[in-house]
Amino acid sequence: MVPVDASALTEALDQDGPDATFVPDGESASALRPSIETSFHAALPWPVVIHTHCVATIALAVRADAQTVVAEKLGDLGAVFVPYVKPGRDLTRAILARSAPATRVIVLGNHGLICCGDDPVSTETLLRTVSARLEPHALPEPRSIDPELADQLAGTDWMPAPAEAQPLARDPVQLGFAGGATLYPDHLVFLGPGVAIADHDDVRTATELAARLSPPRRLLLFPGRGAAIPKDSDAGTKALARALGDVVARIAPGAEVNRLTPVQEADLLNWDAEAYRRSLSAAS
Ligand SMILES: [Zn+2]
Repeated sequence: MVPVDASALTEALDQDGPDATFVPDGESASALRPSIETSFHAALPWPVVIHTHCVATIALAVRADAQTVVAEKLGDLGAVFVPYVKPGRDLTRAILARSAPATRVIVLGNHGLICCGDDPVSTETLLRTVSARLEPHALPEPRSIDPELADQLAGTDWMPAPAEAQPLARDPVQLGFAGGATLYPDHLVFLGPGVAIADHDDVRTATELAARLSPPRRLLLFPGRGAAIPKDSDAGTKALARALGDVVARIAPGAEVNRLTPVQEADLLNWDAEAYRRSLSAAS
């Protein structure tokens, strides 16, 4: 845990200049730094503010009709929808502009969920209620990789991705959602922009071509066969490969989705705070 000066954070929302994190003097000896998302925790007027990248919420939050679906499914909870804004002070300003002091549920476009409350237990209960309401009635079973593909990957620098990510390549509907540009910031930070699609029948050649992509892609899909990640993947890469499978399995078939634009991607990739998060993951 990193202590922060919440009132200084809130006051700084009205100022321009770089995002600051306001660790009080004498508290900064630790190498840890507060998340770039700390400012909305400080600014929302509740004792408890929980923020998660809930996969059921993201599956809704990437949809072009997310605002309508939030009103339908979470309207009785007073939920508000905030279209995608880069995490940090700009997002906090957008959240404050769209919410009221009584707002307890906020769905962040192409990002995640915020729930607020008076105490940790009731706030977690609210979070679980929202997440459960957004879960589809049935989820596809995770599938293993095509065994022949797994054998062929053994001689390369790549290995099968987690089981939850395999349908991204094996299910045509999921491939349609997974095969485009980035859906949410964590994916970009840990796996690179979008995914790589194998475009060569020879697996070794396909992996070598994928490894040459710049910026790097760490999730490689072999349509109809399976999904692979580099053998040197850290815990964050494995988790985010699984997360894409978890999210895409929950997107309503036929839904139109919003994706991050190249400008939004560049904005995130040049950002020191996200690079810091990435380096923390690499060290774990
Ligand atoms: Zn977040």
